[in-house]
Amino acid sequence: MKTAEIRQAFLKFFESKNHQIVRSSSLVPHDDPTLLFTNAGMNQFKDCFLGAEKRPYTRATTAQKCVRAGGKHNDLENVGYTARHHTFFEMMGNFSFGDYFKQDAIAFAWEFLTSPEWLNLPVEKLLVTIYENDDEAYDIWHKQVGLPDHKIIRIGDNKGAPYASDNFWAMGDTGPCGPCTEVFYDHGEHIWGGPPGSPEEDGDRFIEIWNIVFMQFNRQSSGEMQPLPAPSVDTGMGLERISAILQGVHANYEIDLFRDLLNASAQAIGCTNEDQPSLRVVADHIRSCSFLIADGVMPSNEGRGYVLRRIIRRACRHGHKLGARGSFFHHIVAALVAEMGEAYPELKDQQAMIERVLAKEEEQFARTLEHGLQILEQDLAELKGQVIPGAVVFKLYDTYGFPVDLTGDIARERDLTLDLDGFESAMEAQRERARAASQFGIDYNELVRVDVDTDFTGYDQTTDKGQIVALLQE
Ligand code: ATP
Ligand code: MG
Ligand code: MG
Ligand code: MG
Repeated sequence: MKTAEIRQAFLKFFESKNHQIVRSSSLVPHDDPTLLFTNAGMNQFKDCFLGAEKRPYTRATTAQKCVRAGGKHNDLENVGYTARHHTFFEMMGNFSFGDYFKQDAIAFAWEFLTSPEWLNLPVEKLLVTIYENDDEAYDIWHKQVGLPDHKIIRIGDNKGAPYASDNFWAMGDTGPCGPCTEVFYDHGEHIWGGPPGSPEEDGDRFIEIWNIVFMQFNRQSSGEMQPLPAPSVDTGMGLERISAILQGVHANYEIDLFRDLLNASAQAIGCTNEDQPSLRVVADHIRSCSFLIADGVMPSNEGRGYVLRRIIRRACRHGHKLGARGSFFHHIVAALVAEMGEAYPELKDQQAMIERVLAKEEEQFARTLEHGLQILEQDLAELKGQVIPGAVVFKLYDTYGFPVDLTGDIARERDLTLDLDGFESAMEAQRERARAASQFGIDYNELVRVDVDTDFTGYDQTTDKGQIVALLQE
């Protein structure tokens, strides 16, 4: 089955179960300052779960554009390295707003996945996780679906903080949340990785395909869990991951859609399409960048626009690494439109604009990329130890426009790390200078409305807001 056919099958299945098919919402969340980009199918229904909005239907189904490149769910660092993560992906979902709950949600998912009429996946390859004390979910999987006990894995609050478990899903630090049950597919013994909950789970043998969330609470900023007006259901199934299974391949990058994008990327760069992370990064990033621009995000020095700029620059660097000199990135847009323009007409309608924006951004960065890389090489040649000093990271950032994650990406390829404290001090010193030079005591933090640094991991953790604030001061 082609990716486009699977998308249609999902919507058709849930339509046959009386769900209203609803269009994907924009990647720019409507009126929700707590969210950087749309990161799940449920975002557009947040108020329906909270009871603040009534719609003419209580069951909905969508194919939702998602970007996870910052905020609570950030997969930027994974892209190109795992078989299953993208910055942009499509999340198929079905939703119940106070209508059905656990029983139907699990039964629907199982029917769609395993019935010969639908996806017909081999039952023996599937296993599930549940929230540790969710006996109700256990009984449904065990007694009604008939899964043996060893295929139902209980996962608790294993990360220390309450409700930090993979089986307690939350959209962000506040908002609708609840325990969940997830379906995994076993890609086979020849692939490294252990079942969920095991020490080896970070491998790619067992891949999570579907998360079924039992929405029950609204988390307040104080941490208080307020019960929702009615128990609800929110599910998300990764379209690229299910395509991989149905097309008999392991990695998302081997599916029909990505094969074409990888070819187009190799062609634009002038390299051969070999299995290499940099090419996957480029093929991945053209989707997030094009879809973000189509939804009105423009590269800039603040908030969402800065995240977009970071992704574009990262793609440029990876292209450069593969031998691209000058601009190449915007040449891949046409292949993307050919793959996805039918399902997402906004892409087709705005192709020329997307190409223009990317070309301009690439040209601008190309002027400093080459030189910045040379400077970095010189510094690395003199480096003692495994840590790139903060002053170097700052120089690259300040003079050559290297976002910190881009330098971090290069560091990772060479088993080096960044001195982020040193970077922060250099940044702070610059801020001090700017403040002293300013006649007005403006707090630029006030201007940063999109809080992009919540829950960032690694080097993204502390720097993003700092970068944005500093850039605003320029
Ligand atoms: P993972 O543990 O693999 O990172 P997740 O638990 O973060 O996934 P959810 O938030 O549960 O993902 O999202 C629902 C579904 O969306 C997942 O089961 C998966 O199929 C898909 N998905 C999540 N993140 C990505 C991504 N970065 N790229 C592609 N598909 C994804
Ligand atoms: Mg994840
Ligand atoms: Mg997960
Ligand atoms: Mg999950």
